[in-house]
Amino acid sequence: LDAPHSSGIQDLKKDLVPFAQELIRTPSLPGDEEKVADLVLARLQAGDVDESWVDEIGNVIGVMRGEGSGPNVLLNGHMDVVPPGQLEKWEHAPFAADIDSAGTLHGRGSADMKGGLASLVFAMLAMKELRDRGLKLTGDIIFSAVVHEETAGMLGMHYLCEHSLPARKLGFDVCYLAEPTNGRINLGHRGKVEILVRTRGKTAHSSSPWMGVNAIEKMVPVLEAVFQEIAPSLPSDPELGRSTITVTKVVCEPGALSIIPDLCEISVDRRYLPGETVEEILADFEAMFDRLRAKDPDFAASASVRTMMERSYTGLEREVQKQRPAWNVSKENAFVRETCNAMIDIGREPELGYFRGGVDGALTAGVMGVPTMGYSGADESLAHTEEEHTTVKTLVSDMEAYVAILTRLLGAAAA
Ligand SMILES: [Zn+2]
Repeated sequence: LDAPHSSGIQDLKKDLVPFAQELIRTPSLPGDEEKVADLVLARLQAGDVDESWVDEIGNVIGVMRGEGSGPNVLLNGHMDVVPPGQLEKWEHAPFAADIDSAGTLHGRGSADMKGGLASLVFAMLAMKELRDRGLKLTGDIIFSAVVHEETAGMLGMHYLCEHSLPARKLGFDVCYLAEPTNGRINLGHRGKVEILVRTRGKTAHSSSPWMGVNAIEKMVPVLEAVFQEIAPSLPSDPELGRSTITVTKVVCEPGALSIIPDLCEISVDRRYLPGETVEEILADFEAMFDRLRAKDPDFAASASVRTMMERSYTGLEREVQKQRPAWNVSKENAFVRETCNAMIDIGREPELGYFRGGVDGALTAGVMGVPTMGYSGADESLAHTEEEHTTVKTLVSDMEAYVAILTRLLGAAAA
Protein backbone atom coordinates (compact mmCIF):
# COMPACT_ATOMS: atom_id res chain seq x y z
CA LEU A 1 0.00 0.00 0.00
CA ASP A 2 2.50 2.58 -1.22
CA ALA A 3 -0.18 5.14 -0.79
CA PRO A 4 1.31 8.64 -0.53
CA HIS A 5 3.07 8.19 -3.88
CA SER A 6 0.17 6.62 -5.73
CA SER A 7 -1.13 8.53 -8.73
CA GLY A 8 -4.50 9.33 -7.15
CA ILE A 9 -2.86 11.05 -4.19
CA GLN A 10 -0.42 12.88 -6.49
CA ASP A 11 -3.39 14.25 -8.48
CA LEU A 12 -4.98 15.46 -5.26
CA LYS A 13 -1.79 17.34 -4.36
CA LYS A 14 -1.97 19.13 -7.73
CA ASP A 15 -5.57 20.17 -7.14
CA LEU A 16 -4.91 21.30 -3.58
CA VAL A 17 -3.12 24.55 -4.46
CA PRO A 18 -5.73 25.95 -6.90
CA PHE A 19 -8.42 25.00 -4.37
CA ALA A 20 -6.65 26.99 -1.62
CA GLN A 21 -6.38 29.94 -4.04
CA GLU A 22 -10.08 29.70 -4.82
CA LEU A 23 -10.89 29.86 -1.10
CA ILE A 24 -8.66 32.93 -0.63
CA ARG A 25 -10.22 34.65 -3.66
CA THR A 26 -13.62 34.26 -2.04
CA PRO A 27 -13.83 36.86 0.77
CA SER A 28 -15.66 35.50 3.81
CA LEU A 29 -16.03 37.80 6.78
CA PRO A 30 -17.98 36.28 9.68
CA GLY A 31 -21.62 36.07 8.59
CA ASP A 32 -20.62 35.97 4.92
CA GLU A 33 -19.08 32.51 4.52
CA GLU A 34 -21.72 31.08 2.15
CA LYS A 35 -19.61 31.07 -1.03
CA VAL A 36 -16.68 29.42 0.73
CA ALA A 37 -19.10 26.85 2.20
CA ASP A 38 -20.36 26.13 -1.33
CA LEU A 39 -16.80 25.53 -2.55
CA VAL A 40 -15.93 23.24 0.35
CA LEU A 41 -19.15 21.25 0.06
CA ALA A 42 -18.75 20.86 -3.71
CA ARG A 43 -15.24 19.51 -3.22
CA LEU A 44 -16.33 16.98 -0.60
CA GLN A 45 -19.16 15.87 -2.88
CA ALA A 46 -16.83 15.60 -5.87
CA GLY A 47 -14.57 13.43 -3.70
CA ASP A 48 -17.57 11.24 -2.90
CA VAL A 49 -17.08 11.08 0.87
CA ASP A 50 -19.77 9.05 2.65
CA GLU A 51 -21.88 11.99 3.86
CA SER A 52 -21.59 15.74 3.40
CA TRP A 53 -23.98 18.55 4.17
CA VAL A 54 -24.36 22.12 5.38
CA ASP A 55 -26.00 22.47 8.79
CA GLU A 56 -28.57 25.10 9.81
CA ILE A 57 -25.93 27.62 10.87
CA GLY A 58 -23.90 27.17 7.69
CA ASN A 59 -21.09 24.86 8.83
CA VAL A 60 -19.92 22.30 6.25
CA ILE A 61 -19.60 18.75 7.53
CA GLY A 62 -18.25 15.67 5.80
CA VAL A 63 -18.05 12.15 7.20
CA MET A 64 -16.12 9.02 6.30
CA ARG A 65 -17.49 6.15 8.30
CA GLY A 66 -15.12 3.71 9.89
CA GLU A 67 -15.79 0.28 11.27
CA GLY A 68 -14.23 -1.08 14.39
CA SER A 69 -12.90 0.05 17.71
CA GLY A 70 -10.71 2.94 16.56
CA PRO A 71 -11.25 6.48 17.79
CA ASN A 72 -13.52 8.93 15.97
CA VAL A 73 -11.57 11.96 14.79
CA LEU A 74 -12.87 15.50 14.26
CA LEU A 75 -10.93 17.58 11.74
CA ASN A 76 -11.80 21.23 12.16
CA GLY A 77 -11.20 24.54 10.46
CA HIS A 78 -13.00 27.85 10.14
CA MET A 79 -14.18 29.50 6.92
CA ASP A 80 -14.25 33.12 8.08
CA VAL A 81 -11.40 35.60 7.89
CA VAL A 82 -10.76 38.96 9.50
CA PRO A 83 -11.15 42.10 7.33
CA PRO A 84 -8.16 43.07 5.17
CA GLY A 85 -7.79 46.50 6.80
CA GLN A 86 -6.05 49.21 4.77
CA LEU A 87 -5.64 47.88 1.23
CA GLU A 88 -2.64 50.11 0.42
CA LYS A 89 -0.63 48.34 3.12
CA TRP A 90 -0.82 45.05 1.18
CA GLU A 91 2.04 44.42 -1.22
CA HIS A 92 -0.03 41.61 -2.76
CA ALA A 93 -3.76 42.28 -3.05
CA PRO A 94 -5.50 40.48 -0.15
CA PHE A 95 -7.93 38.47 -2.30
CA ALA A 96 -5.72 37.85 -5.35
CA ALA A 97 -4.09 34.70 -3.94
CA ASP A 98 -0.84 35.50 -5.79
CA ILE A 99 1.85 32.83 -5.81
CA ASP A 100 5.31 34.34 -6.29
CA SER A 101 8.37 32.70 -7.85
CA ALA A 102 9.48 31.41 -4.43
CA GLY A 103 6.23 29.46 -4.06
CA THR A 104 4.73 31.82 -1.48
CA LEU A 105 0.95 32.09 -1.52
CA HIS A 106 -0.21 35.52 -0.39
CA GLY A 107 -3.53 36.77 0.85
CA ARG A 108 -6.08 37.20 3.62
CA GLY A 109 -6.79 33.79 5.07
CA SER A 110 -3.77 32.09 3.50
CA ALA A 111 -2.30 31.33 6.94
CA ASP A 112 -5.45 31.80 9.06
CA MET A 113 -6.73 29.47 7.81
CA LYS A 114 -7.90 28.79 4.30
CA GLY A 115 -4.55 27.13 3.54
CA GLY A 116 -5.00 24.73 6.46
CA LEU A 117 -8.66 24.25 5.60
CA ALA A 118 -7.78 23.27 2.02
CA SER A 119 -5.20 20.81 3.34
CA LEU A 120 -7.82 19.26 5.64
CA VAL A 121 -10.32 18.87 2.78
CA PHE A 122 -7.68 17.15 0.69
CA ALA A 123 -6.50 14.96 3.57
CA MET A 124 -10.12 13.81 3.81
CA LEU A 125 -10.20 13.07 0.07
CA ALA A 126 -6.86 11.25 0.33
CA MET A 127 -8.26 9.03 3.09
CA LYS A 128 -11.20 8.22 0.83
CA GLU A 129 -8.75 7.30 -1.92
CA LEU A 130 -6.78 5.12 0.47
CA ARG A 131 -9.93 3.41 1.71
CA ASP A 132 -10.96 2.73 -1.89
CA ARG A 133 -7.60 1.03 -2.32
CA GLY A 134 -8.12 -1.26 0.64
CA LEU A 135 -7.17 0.66 3.77
CA LYS A 136 -9.66 -0.13 6.52
CA LEU A 137 -10.74 2.76 8.76
CA THR A 138 -11.32 1.67 12.35
CA GLY A 139 -13.18 4.87 13.33
CA ASP A 140 -15.08 7.78 11.79
CA ILE A 141 -13.36 10.81 10.27
CA ILE A 142 -15.54 13.89 10.65
CA PHE A 143 -14.49 16.95 8.70
CA SER A 144 -15.94 20.30 9.76
CA ALA A 145 -15.55 23.81 8.36
CA VAL A 146 -17.28 26.21 10.73
CA VAL A 147 -18.57 29.77 10.55
CA HIS A 148 -17.91 32.63 12.98
CA GLU A 149 -14.58 31.67 14.54
CA GLU A 150 -12.95 35.08 14.27
CA THR A 151 -15.70 36.74 16.32
CA ALA A 152 -14.38 34.75 19.32
CA GLY A 153 -17.78 33.61 20.60
CA MET A 154 -17.45 30.13 19.02
CA LEU A 155 -20.91 30.44 17.43
CA GLY A 156 -20.30 27.94 14.60
CA MET A 157 -18.34 25.53 16.80
CA HIS A 158 -21.01 25.49 19.54
CA TYR A 159 -23.66 24.70 16.95
CA LEU A 160 -21.55 21.93 15.43
CA CYS A 161 -20.80 20.20 18.72
CA GLU A 162 -24.14 20.77 20.45
CA HIS A 163 -26.59 20.27 17.56
CA SER A 164 -25.28 19.09 14.21
CA LEU A 165 -23.07 16.18 15.29
CA PRO A 166 -25.33 14.84 18.08
CA ALA A 167 -28.35 15.01 15.70
CA ARG A 168 -26.60 12.43 13.50
CA LYS A 169 -25.27 10.47 16.48
CA LEU A 170 -21.72 11.49 15.61
CA GLY A 171 -19.20 11.83 18.40
CA PHE A 172 -15.45 12.33 18.48
CA ASP A 173 -12.59 11.26 20.75
CA VAL A 174 -9.91 13.62 19.48
CA CYS A 175 -9.95 16.89 17.56
CA TYR A 176 -7.44 18.53 15.21
CA LEU A 177 -7.50 22.20 14.17
CA ALA A 178 -5.57 23.26 11.07
CA GLU A 179 -4.83 26.68 12.57
CA PRO A 180 -1.36 28.16 11.92
CA THR A 181 1.12 26.72 14.45
CA ASN A 182 4.47 27.13 12.66
CA GLY A 183 4.57 23.34 12.31
CA ARG A 184 4.27 22.69 16.03
CA ILE A 185 1.63 20.44 17.59
CA ASN A 186 -0.18 23.00 19.73
CA LEU A 187 -1.77 21.77 22.93
CA GLY A 188 -3.64 24.75 24.30
CA HIS A 189 -3.90 28.45 24.99
CA ARG A 190 -4.83 30.87 27.74
CA GLY A 191 -8.49 31.65 28.22
CA LYS A 192 -9.87 34.94 27.02
CA VAL A 193 -12.79 36.90 28.33
CA GLU A 194 -13.97 40.36 27.33
CA ILE A 195 -15.35 42.16 30.36
CA LEU A 196 -17.52 45.20 30.11
CA VAL A 197 -17.04 47.57 33.05
CA ARG A 198 -19.48 50.44 33.46
CA THR A 199 -19.44 53.37 35.84
CA ARG A 200 -22.61 55.42 36.29
CA GLY A 201 -23.00 59.12 37.05
CA LYS A 202 -25.48 61.92 36.57
CA THR A 203 -25.70 64.34 33.66
CA ALA A 204 -25.44 68.10 34.16
CA HIS A 205 -24.41 71.12 32.11
CA SER A 206 -20.62 71.03 31.97
CA SER A 207 -20.46 74.70 32.96
CA SER A 208 -21.49 73.50 36.43
CA PRO A 209 -19.90 70.06 36.84
CA TRP A 210 -20.69 70.02 40.58
CA MET A 211 -24.35 69.57 39.66
CA GLY A 212 -23.61 66.16 38.09
CA VAL A 213 -21.54 63.06 38.70
CA ASN A 214 -18.96 62.48 35.96
CA ALA A 215 -18.89 58.79 35.04
CA ILE A 216 -15.43 59.23 33.45
CA GLU A 217 -14.01 60.51 36.73
CA LYS A 218 -15.50 57.46 38.47
CA MET A 219 -13.69 55.21 35.98
CA VAL A 220 -10.27 56.67 36.88
CA PRO A 221 -9.71 54.58 40.04
CA VAL A 222 -10.93 51.47 38.15
CA LEU A 223 -8.33 52.02 35.42
CA GLU A 224 -5.65 52.61 38.06
CA ALA A 225 -6.58 49.37 39.80
CA VAL A 226 -6.56 47.40 36.52
CA PHE A 227 -3.13 48.60 35.45
CA GLN A 228 -1.39 49.08 38.80
CA GLU A 229 -2.92 46.45 41.10
CA ILE A 230 -4.43 43.60 39.07
CA ALA A 231 -1.95 43.45 36.16
CA PRO A 232 1.20 42.95 38.26
CA SER A 233 -0.46 40.35 40.50
CA LEU A 234 -1.55 37.87 37.82
CA PRO A 235 -0.26 34.28 37.78
CA SER A 236 1.98 32.69 35.17
CA ASP A 237 2.34 29.19 33.73
CA PRO A 238 5.51 27.64 32.27
CA GLU A 239 3.63 26.36 29.20
CA LEU A 240 0.85 28.84 28.48
CA GLY A 241 2.59 31.99 29.68
CA ARG A 242 1.32 34.81 31.87
CA SER A 243 -2.26 35.82 32.60
CA THR A 244 -2.74 39.36 31.38
CA ILE A 245 -5.21 42.19 31.66
CA THR A 246 -5.50 45.30 29.56
CA VAL A 247 -8.09 47.84 28.43
CA THR A 248 -8.94 47.95 24.72
CA LYS A 249 -11.77 50.47 24.51
CA VAL A 250 -13.18 53.45 26.39
CA VAL A 251 -16.50 55.09 25.54
CA CYS A 252 -18.88 57.42 27.33
CA GLU A 253 -22.43 58.63 26.99
CA PRO A 254 -23.98 60.92 25.98
CA GLY A 255 -20.49 61.82 24.70
CA ALA A 256 -21.60 65.28 23.61
CA LEU A 257 -19.89 68.57 24.31
CA SER A 258 -21.15 70.55 27.31
CA ILE A 259 -22.74 67.50 28.95
CA ILE A 260 -21.32 65.69 31.98
CA PRO A 261 -21.41 61.99 30.95
CA ASP A 262 -23.54 59.69 33.09
CA LEU A 263 -22.08 56.47 31.65
CA CYS A 264 -18.50 55.40 31.05
CA GLU A 265 -17.79 51.97 29.65
CA ILE A 266 -14.47 50.17 29.17
CA SER A 267 -13.65 46.85 27.52
CA VAL A 268 -11.23 44.79 29.54
CA ASP A 269 -9.32 42.02 27.74
CA ARG A 270 -8.39 39.40 30.31
CA ARG A 271 -6.34 36.32 29.37
CA TYR A 272 -6.34 33.64 32.01
CA LEU A 273 -4.91 30.25 32.89
CA PRO A 274 -6.66 26.92 33.52
CA GLY A 275 -7.47 27.11 37.25
CA GLU A 276 -8.67 30.70 37.03
CA THR A 277 -12.38 31.09 36.32
CA VAL A 278 -14.48 33.84 34.80
CA GLU A 279 -16.60 33.85 37.99
CA GLU A 280 -13.49 34.61 40.07
CA ILE A 281 -12.35 37.28 37.63
CA LEU A 282 -15.74 39.02 37.90
CA ALA A 283 -15.72 38.58 41.70
CA ASP A 284 -12.37 40.41 41.85
CA PHE A 285 -13.98 43.37 40.08
CA GLU A 286 -16.91 43.32 42.52
CA ALA A 287 -14.47 43.34 45.46
CA MET A 288 -12.68 46.32 43.90
CA PHE A 289 -16.01 48.15 43.46
CA ASP A 290 -16.85 47.50 47.16
CA ARG A 291 -13.56 49.09 48.23
CA LEU A 292 -14.13 52.11 45.98
CA ARG A 293 -17.72 52.52 47.16
CA ALA A 294 -16.52 52.51 50.78
CA LYS A 295 -14.40 55.58 49.99
CA ASP A 296 -16.86 57.30 47.64
CA PRO A 297 -20.62 57.04 48.19
CA ASP A 298 -21.26 58.30 44.62
CA PHE A 299 -19.32 55.40 43.10
CA ALA A 300 -21.56 53.03 41.09
CA ALA A 301 -20.12 50.37 38.79
CA SER A 302 -20.81 46.97 37.29
CA ALA A 303 -18.79 44.30 35.48
CA SER A 304 -20.10 41.61 33.14
CA VAL A 305 -18.97 39.39 30.29
CA ARG A 306 -19.62 41.07 26.94
CA THR A 307 -22.35 39.41 24.90
CA MET A 308 -23.12 39.94 21.22
CA MET A 309 -25.96 39.01 18.93
CA GLU A 310 -24.43 37.18 16.00
CA ARG A 311 -26.20 36.19 12.83
CA SER A 312 -24.97 33.47 10.50
CA TYR A 313 -25.30 33.70 6.71
CA THR A 314 -28.18 31.24 6.94
CA GLY A 315 -30.08 33.71 9.13
CA LEU A 316 -29.69 31.91 12.45
CA GLU A 317 -29.25 34.37 15.31
CA ARG A 318 -27.75 33.66 18.70
CA GLU A 319 -26.49 35.65 21.64
CA VAL A 320 -22.92 34.62 22.38
CA GLN A 321 -20.58 35.43 25.22
CA LYS A 322 -17.21 36.85 24.28
CA GLN A 323 -15.16 34.26 26.06
CA ARG A 324 -13.02 31.25 25.32
CA PRO A 325 -11.92 29.04 28.19
CA ALA A 326 -8.28 28.14 28.75
CA TRP A 327 -7.17 24.65 27.73
CA ASN A 328 -3.97 22.66 28.00
CA VAL A 329 -3.84 19.06 26.82
CA SER A 330 -1.27 16.95 28.66
CA LYS A 331 1.91 16.17 26.75
CA GLU A 332 1.49 12.62 28.07
CA ASN A 333 -1.93 12.17 26.46
CA ALA A 334 -1.98 9.02 24.28
CA PHE A 335 -3.32 10.96 21.25
CA VAL A 336 -0.52 13.51 21.60
CA ARG A 337 2.05 10.72 21.66
CA GLU A 338 0.46 9.06 18.61
CA THR A 339 0.41 12.40 16.76
CA CYS A 340 4.14 12.79 17.47
CA ASN A 341 4.69 9.23 16.22
CA ALA A 342 2.77 10.05 13.04
CA MET A 343 5.18 12.93 12.41
CA ILE A 344 8.12 10.59 12.94
CA ASP A 345 6.45 8.15 10.47
CA ILE A 346 6.91 10.78 7.73
CA GLY A 347 10.38 11.81 8.79
CA ARG A 348 9.52 14.92 10.76
CA GLU A 349 10.74 15.98 14.17
CA PRO A 350 7.62 16.53 16.31
CA GLU A 351 7.63 19.71 18.36
CA LEU A 352 4.98 20.70 20.89
CA GLY A 353 3.72 24.25 21.37
CA TYR A 354 0.87 26.53 22.43
CA PHE A 355 -1.26 29.17 20.71
CA ARG A 356 -0.85 32.84 21.56
CA GLY A 357 -4.37 33.71 20.43
CA GLY A 358 -7.64 31.86 20.98
CA VAL A 359 -9.08 29.13 18.74
CA ASP A 360 -12.18 26.93 18.66
CA GLY A 361 -10.31 24.19 20.56
CA ALA A 362 -11.43 26.18 23.60
CA LEU A 363 -14.80 24.44 23.16
CA THR A 364 -13.64 20.90 22.35
CA ALA A 365 -10.83 20.81 24.94
CA GLY A 366 -11.68 23.64 27.36
CA VAL A 367 -15.39 22.84 27.75
CA MET A 368 -15.90 19.29 26.44
CA GLY A 369 -12.58 17.88 27.68
CA VAL A 370 -11.75 16.19 24.37
CA PRO A 371 -8.00 16.02 23.59
CA THR A 372 -7.44 18.69 20.93
CA MET A 373 -4.38 19.68 18.94
CA GLY A 374 -3.59 22.41 16.45
CA TYR A 375 -1.28 21.77 13.52
CA SER A 376 -0.25 23.62 10.38
CA GLY A 377 3.07 24.76 9.00
CA ALA A 378 1.69 28.29 8.46
CA ASP A 379 3.06 31.07 10.66
CA GLU A 380 0.75 32.12 13.50
CA SER A 381 2.37 35.56 13.74
CA LEU A 382 1.25 36.38 10.15
CA ALA A 383 -2.43 35.87 11.00
CA HIS A 384 -4.47 39.09 10.78
CA THR A 385 -1.54 41.05 9.22
CA GLU A 386 -1.12 42.64 5.76
CA GLU A 387 1.83 40.28 5.16
CA GLU A 388 -0.30 37.17 5.60
CA HIS A 389 1.02 34.28 3.51
CA THR A 390 1.74 30.58 3.45
CA THR A 391 3.65 28.46 0.95
CA VAL A 392 2.69 25.87 -1.64
CA LYS A 393 5.04 23.52 0.19
CA THR A 394 3.16 24.06 3.46
CA LEU A 395 -0.20 23.20 1.87
CA VAL A 396 1.12 19.86 0.64
CA SER A 397 3.11 19.17 3.78
CA ASP A 398 0.05 19.85 6.00
CA MET A 399 -2.05 17.49 3.91
CA GLU A 400 0.65 14.81 4.24
CA ALA A 401 0.82 15.34 8.01
CA TYR A 402 -2.95 14.92 8.38
CA VAL A 403 -2.93 11.78 6.22
CA ALA A 404 -0.11 10.40 8.39
CA ILE A 405 -2.02 11.20 11.60
CA LEU A 406 -5.28 9.69 10.35
CA THR A 407 -3.52 6.62 8.98
CA ARG A 408 -1.77 6.03 12.29
CA LEU A 409 -4.91 6.55 14.41
CA LEU A 410 -7.44 4.78 12.20
CA GLY A 411 -5.78 2.85 9.47
CA ALA A 412 -5.63 -0.92 9.41
CA ALA A 413 -4.57 -2.94 6.38
CA ALA A 414 -7.54 -4.87 4.97
CA ALA A 415 -7.60 -8.51 5.98
ZN1 LIG B 1 -7.89 31.02 12.80
